Amino acid sequence: MSSDTFDVIVLGLGAMGSAAAYHLALRGKRVLGLEQYTAAHDRGSSHGESRIIRQAYHENPAYVPLVQRAYELWEQLEADTGQDILKLTGGLMIGSRESAVVQGTIRSAREHGLEYQTLDANELRRRFPTLRPRPDDMAVYEVKAGFLRPEVAVSAHLQQAERHAAELHFLESVERWTADASGDGVDVVTSRGRYRASRLVIAPGAWASRLLAELRIPFAIRRHSMCWFDPGAALEMFSPDRFPIYIWDVNGHEVFYGFPFTGGDGGGVKAAMHSGGDPCAPETLHAGSTDLEVAELRRCVARFIPALNGPVVRSVPCMYTLTPDEHFVLSVHPEFSQVAIAAGFSGHGFKFASVIGEVLADLSSVGSTKYEIGFLNPLRFGRDALACVAGASDQN
Ligand SMILES: Cc1cc2nc3c(=O)[nH]c(=O)nc-3n(C[C@H](O)[C@H](O)[C@H](O)COP(=O)(O)OP(=O)(O)OC[C@H]3O[C@@H](n4cnc5c(N)ncnc54)[C@H](O)[C@@H]3O)c2cc1C
Repeated sequence: MSSDTFDVIVLGLGAMGSAAAYHLALRGKRVLGLEQYTAAHDRGSSHGESRIIRQAYHENPAYVPLVQRAYELWEQLEADTGQDILKLTGGLMIGSRESAVVQGTIRSAREHGLEYQTLDANELRRRFPTLRPRPDDMAVYEVKAGFLRPEVAVSAHLQQAERHAAELHFLESVERWTADASGDGVDVVTSRGRYRASRLVIAPGAWASRLLAELRIPFAIRRHSMCWFDPGAALEMFSPDRFPIYIWDVNGHEVFYGFPFTGGDGGGVKAAMHSGGDPCAPETLHAGSTDLEVAELRRCVARFIPALNGPVVRSVPCMYTLTPDEHFVLSVHPEFSQVAIAAGFSGHGFKFASVIGEVLADLSSVGSTKYEIGFLNPLRFGRDALACVAGASDQN
């Protein structure tokens, strides 16, 4: 048992928690980070070699200022660590003219004055000869899109947090936390001890339903398999200088996406379905990918990017934690002012991790942030949904 008192405890050191630990340590806070697995592990939501980053955010223009700050912070992290984290390749958002992806991208780009081009199906095919759009497909090309390397990014945040004197414990699981009714402190009980701190950041990924049970948000956990295709002799057509990241809205229900060849150890060019996904629990994630998952993606790849349709050399499952509206939960805890929460990233959070670390550090230092995050407040799901347990929260 440790009787140490920290300024802030960070629960979960995945994408969001690692960034929060870094930003808090950078500000001179005495930080304890607690993670049930190892650093940059593959049992949650932040593994698989690549994550899309883009600015013309079709999901909601309100995310644009956040992602613009995220780019700056990723570049800063690269400069501080000498690591290769962010690669710009350009990005294609493809679908019918009326599709949510195309319309939403144009709306965000216009509202925020972002650089973009629209391509009809013929221009798209001419500029990117590996793609086979349908005659009524179009694309929005965004110059500043690209990909991040998630394992490198998480490791870099952790390394920088430790450099600024954060204490990080791995293979230590949080069993429960309680917050003082006075708003002054928190107690955290783990598999190895009990800790006390003034503040708590909860960034639990797919374990949100257990660690934030009192919010009563119906988080849905879905598994999504990432597949690496071997295009054989066509591999050179998928190099990052010739082939951008893409998101393809097939019919409003089916959406798939992918990357150029990113040079990962296991080879292959990665693609995945964004839509669908089978319900799962974190404990059963490593049941491998199913033939059905691979077959669903292969149908899209064969139809729209036939040159990529070689053998699948690897497939790895990962979890989405979906909120009812698929927007994040990022705020001070509605019941406990000394607790900040970051959850429900709904399959599109990684690109924001650097700025979310900064926001969580703001919320845990001064209780507010200059960034506009009101649209991510959990009270949008209704105050009645919250169980008002005065003075304590029991996660069992
Ligand atoms: C297949 C796939 C593709 C994706 N593609 C993109 C993309 O292209 N672009 C994009 O922006 N986003 C993408 N995302 C989404 C993005 O990766 C996630 O939103 C983000 O990684 C979530 O980060 P997190 O910190 O919430 O979760 P995690 O990184 O999983 O971190 C949560 C951490 O909390 C720890 N934890 C939980 N409970 C406890 C406990 N009791 N005690 C101690 N530790 C605990 C976990 O072990 C874990 O390490 C994708 C996700 C998947 C699965």
